[in-house]
Amino acid sequence: MHVDTQTAPVDVGRIIDGIRQWVEIESPSSDIGRVNAMIDCIAASVDGLPILTERISGAPRYGDVLVLRSPEAVERGGILVLSHVDTVHPVGMLAGALRFRRVGDHLYGPGIYDMKGGAYLAFEAFRTVLQAGTARLPIVFLFTPDEEIGSPFSRPLIEREARRARFVLVTEPARDGGKVVTSRKGVGRFEAVATGVAAHSGTRHSDGHSAIAEMARQVLAIEAMTNYAQGITTAVGMISGGTAANVIAQHCHISIDLRVRDEATGRALETTILGLKPVDPAVELVVTGGINRPPYRKSAGTEALFRHARELAATLGFTLVEATMAGGGSDGNFTAALGLPTLDGLGIDGEGAHTDGEHAFLSSIEPRTLLMRRLFETLE
Ligand SMILES: [Zn+2]
Repeated sequence: MHVDTQTAPVDVGRIIDGIRQWVEIESPSSDIGRVNAMIDCIAASVDGLPILTERISGAPRYGDVLVLRSPEAVERGGILVLSHVDTVHPVGMLAGALRFRRVGDHLYGPGIYDMKGGAYLAFEAFRTVLQAGTARLPIVFLFTPDEEIGSPFSRPLIEREARRARFVLVTEPARDGGKVVTSRKGVGRFEAVATGVAAHSGTRHSDGHSAIAEMARQVLAIEAMTNYAQGITTAVGMISGGTAANVIAQHCHISIDLRVRDEATGRALETTILGLKPVDPAVELVVTGGINRPPYRKSAGTEALFRHARELAATLGFTLVEATMAGGGSDGNFTAALGLPTLDGLGIDGEGAHTDGEHAFLSSIEPRTLLMRRLFETLE
């Protein structure tokens, strides 16, 4: 029987139960067992659907990747959906600040906004259209275990699937009142280690060469690379070093975050940061890292995909707006950089990603589930 999913209602109560089940499996990227429990849960929810399942082990360092394919996806590429099942929240948040609860329109839970809520809505839409047989293109749904740590394991798998796809839909959180994302900055990550000469800071001060003093100069130089007008930001987010107050520090370590709008700027800054030289020649400075996510620039294909989604939203009774270039990276950066039309921020709306106040808006469940369904049913 043909089910007209355009009018089939969305069972919001059932979806809330499903989201609750997912957020109650706490799954920080580093906890492989728990990330895999999420993957188990999803794999167990496709029984009876016409789906081919592939599970790729990320052991010993990462959780597994789960690939769900509609059968036609073996022959031809279609829609690739990207959802990550890991969160930034350490285990225990569920028993504390992020206890699952509903307060008015707000649903609280670890990772409920980034991105278990959105992943669940897309999964629900995926199951609905597969059951009804109403998708025009094959769909590949990829669940990944490591987005919050830069997708080191899943990146090649994402790129493998993207090369066969025509459109990519990413279920990262909606932004600022339901906006979708059509561009994101590129992201670089670097580590710098300074090694100086230790000495007693009372009796042998002049013998020492402080790694901390050296790094302090480097930190200021790195932070000074920020240029808001050009969309460049640098931040030294972590620093550690030294052994005691009365020892000239032999070691100092920093972690650096870089965001850029375009690839050329990214390459130039990568060269600059990797080429940093110590001010004190007696201190050794080693910088490693590089651009981890290429910039996600809005291509003509992405623009057309966004316009299509906006038309669908209009027929569903809401206005879909695109966010200005997002500073945060996602797995959409990889697919956009390969030239694939990529629409991101299709997930649930909410606030407070990565904080102990993270919540999703219950009222966004219905429109965004329907939008995802209609994308599956109309993209061709
Ligand atoms: Zn996310």
